[in-house]
Amino acid sequence: MLYKQESGWKQLKSEERQQIIDFCEPYKAFLNEAKTEREFVIASQKQAEKRGFVDAMSKDELKPGDKVFFNLRDKNLVLAVIGSKDLAEGANFVVSHVDSPRLDLKQKPLYEDSEFALFKTHYYGGVKKYQWASRPLALHGVVMLKSGVKVNITIGEDENDPVFVIPDLLPHLDAKVQRERKASEVLKGSEMHVLVGSIPCEITDEDIKDSVKYNALQKLNEKYDMTEEDFISAEFELVPAAKARDIGFDRGLIGAYGHDDRICAWTSVQSILDMDHTPEHTAICFLVDKEEIGSTGSTGLQSRYIEHFMQELASRIPSSKNDFHAVRRCFWNSKALSSDVNAGVNPLFKQVHDSQNASKLGYGLVLTKYTGARGKAGSSDADAEFVSELRTLFDKHDVKWQTGMLGEVDEGGGGTVAMFLAHYGIRTIDAGAALLSMHSPMEIASKFDVHEIYRAYKAFYA
Ligand code: MN
Ligand code: MN
Repeated sequence: MLYKQESGWKQLKSEERQQIIDFCEPYKAFLNEAKTEREFVIASQKQAEKRGFVDAMSKDELKPGDKVFFNLRDKNLVLAVIGSKDLAEGANFVVSHVDSPRLDLKQKPLYEDSEFALFKTHYYGGVKKYQWASRPLALHGVVMLKSGVKVNITIGEDENDPVFVIPDLLPHLDAKVQRERKASEVLKGSEMHVLVGSIPCEITDEDIKDSVKYNALQKLNEKYDMTEEDFISAEFELVPAAKARDIGFDRGLIGAYGHDDRICAWTSVQSILDMDHTPEHTAICFLVDKEEIGSTGSTGLQSRYIEHFMQELASRIPSSKNDFHAVRRCFWNSKALSSDVNAGVNPLFKQVHDSQNASKLGYGLVLTKYTGARGKAGSSDADAEFVSELRTLFDKHDVKWQTGMLGEVDEGGGGTVAMFLAHYGIRTIDAGAALLSMHSPMEIASKFDVHEIYRAYKAFYA
């Protein structure tokens, strides 16, 4: 009669606990390797190619069991295993995003002040700005040189690399300038400038006014052949330079940058790579970009890329290639897990949650029927029938799952990509992991949940 839940760790013996802890090591390594959407897409594609996935565009015809990928501008990756049923009967999508909050460089970022060289930034996504000061940052990105050559740059990840930092104000002198500011303005967006140099150049030329800035540019030019103008055609992201770490005496948690949403992206990729049979319905793992700023742009889910790659699939499958409505029918018959993270109960700030309905770390996959704010606005709100199907599926596969919501009613809220999938008629629900300190430079996830959402996605694809 009563619905009771307990931590997933509880029933596990020590070997099972250890298996879960071991399972998370490659996840931690991947987080360290892939800190931007481009890096995540490229590294995932490499893994998929090793496991037999081939570029869909290189195939003329696809048959059940075939494993293919689509890469959109190195910012979206689609992994598909063709099912035995007609495409029009629907596909099973697991959709997650691979962009995370960070600091992007402005187009003309470099300047000199007080004999320091600094970068100006524009934050990307929802960040608590003060969290980004006084911590080591690494620079990741690509620059298109004037010559048209594309250069990849990563500085700050190797322990011998330099890092970059926003210099905060000392407590001795912050009384008038900073102490009375609201939390959102402790560090203002326009103050998120990053130290990148302090030594003047050796050249003594009257024309060089900012010799520290000039020296920094010289270093970039020597190593990457880059000029100041090239920043205009670059995408540079500053991300926390720290590596993923175990948290706690028992090592049950992982503290890392970018769990949102790479915890779902990594598990959805691994579970489709590990698929060892031909599914009935085509299984699709879809990694998208730009979720953190509203799924905008040609690589965000609001673009119509999903129609494009589904059409490319349909036109290669004999049973659907002459069916003009195959893709549209497929969408209406499809199911999707919008796999994104939710806010787990934080012991220091329990008041923002309804403890009865909030998700908890270590309790497995979080099924979030609806997100949104102010009366479910912006939510896709899954129907009872679909929730029932998933409930039955996960129980059948002994997957530990829980319900969740993003905070108590009117406490705030947020959205995911769910509504952009539901837009096509795809039955969609949010399903991912619970996190603490979401959107901070060190987000916290439970290792139990990493393992369990992997199992959940595997069951869903199958
Ligand atoms: Mn997310
Ligand atoms: Mn987010």
